[in-house]
Amino acid sequence: MVKSRELYEDALKLMPGGVSSPVRAIKPYPFYTFKAEGSRIYDVDGNGYIDYCLAYGPLILGHANQKVKFALKEQLDRGWLYGTPIELEIEYAKLITKLYRSIEMVRFVNTGSEATMSAIRLARGFTGRSKILKIEGGFHGSHDAVLVKAGSGATTHGTPNSAGVPEDFVRNTLQVPFNDVESLAEVVEKNRDELACVIMEPVMGNSSLIIPEDGYLKEVRKITNENDVLLIFDEVITGFRLALGGAQEFYGVEADLTTLGKIAGGGLPIGIFGGRREIMERISPSGDVYQAGTFSGNPLSLTAGYTTVKFIIENDVLRDVNRKTEELVKGLRDQVEDSNVNVNVDSIASMFCIYFGEKPRDYSDALKLDKVKYMEFFWKMLERGIFLPPSQFETCFMSYAHSVDDVEETIEVFGTCLRL
Ligand SMILES: *Cc1c(COP(=O)(O)O)cnc(C)c1O
Repeated sequence: MVKSRELYEDALKLMPGGVSSPVRAIKPYPFYTFKAEGSRIYDVDGNGYIDYCLAYGPLILGHANQKVKFALKEQLDRGWLYGTPIELEIEYAKLITKLYRSIEMVRFVNTGSEATMSAIRLARGFTGRSKILKIEGGFHGSHDAVLVKAGSGATTHGTPNSAGVPEDFVRNTLQVPFNDVESLAEVVEKNRDELACVIMEPVMGNSSLIIPEDGYLKEVRKITNENDVLLIFDEVITGFRLALGGAQEFYGVEADLTTLGKIAGGGLPIGIFGGRREIMERISPSGDVYQAGTFSGNPLSLTAGYTTVKFIIENDVLRDVNRKTEELVKGLRDQVEDSNVNVNVDSIASMFCIYFGEKPRDYSDALKLDKVKYMEFFWKMLERGIFLPPSQFETCFMSYAHSVDDVEETIEVFGTCLRL
């Protein structure tokens, strides 16, 4: 990877850490991508890898899906930014409100971060209260209110509490551990008159993979209802993945507000937030909570996102990726059993994780995982053609483009790397 190394040396002089987003700064250097197609990503030195990082979640169809590509080409021919409403906004909004029972109205924005930032502002505006409650290790993007004990790159690089966020800004951000009903009940009850919302990833995908225990989300819903506090499910990862209607459909729990992103943009930047009409109508210009964006609802993101969701529905993609994930996880577990390494593998739908240590039930457990061993393993796998996310605190994904042969090859290489 000579060329990648040289490029990274250049990049380090021009961009902090040499990258545009922290988790990409793999030590000693990341590979630079030349192209990607289907289940494979190819670097500038001519190596190909089976990709389970998949851009951290959006690429459920794999890279460069033909249908999405053609739809984008068609849109390109008609221009790519208008600054006016387009018909596709309505079509996409109809589709989302049909798939998500809890969503009656939506607003399209540009990133998941923007969606959670706006949803929190809306919750505060609607309730007239200032405090919010998040889950330790939960990641909701990179804006001030949520950068305390934040997962993803913030945890990977040891800065879960970001510098540059005034204490005053996060004084109103409370936290409790995941899967802990008592702590949540206690904090919500104690702060109910000041608490606007609880925001959480229903399945935590940014502090390794942490799966909710039986009944936990239903309890969360009950506690927030009883205390008249809004519940925001951040489904930026789980939306259109756990089920077409996200974790809410999967677990049978409805949120007041939902944030979507990643898959929702089909590989182009997008964020969406939505919920009950009475809440959403408080958004400007129908209401007094301001939110705006030059690129919001842009034709290319809407086209890629809408085409992707339609493709998922028409090709029963979720069944396909879930089945392949199960096969893969079963194979990986067999390999672990035959070795003597303290590694665990778990999955939900098409999200899976290789834990160097015990399977966590909350953030403090996740921090006990051996992230150094994970990265050693990451490199062994990469050298043999498998690209896992470059951090123990990220989740692996399966795509529609992965073949049964890909899965078998992955199991074999995994076994080899465990024994090295
Ligand atoms: C990725 C992610 C975000 C942020 O989305 P961006 O598009 O990167 O801003 C927010 N919430 C969750 C759960 C995410 O995984």
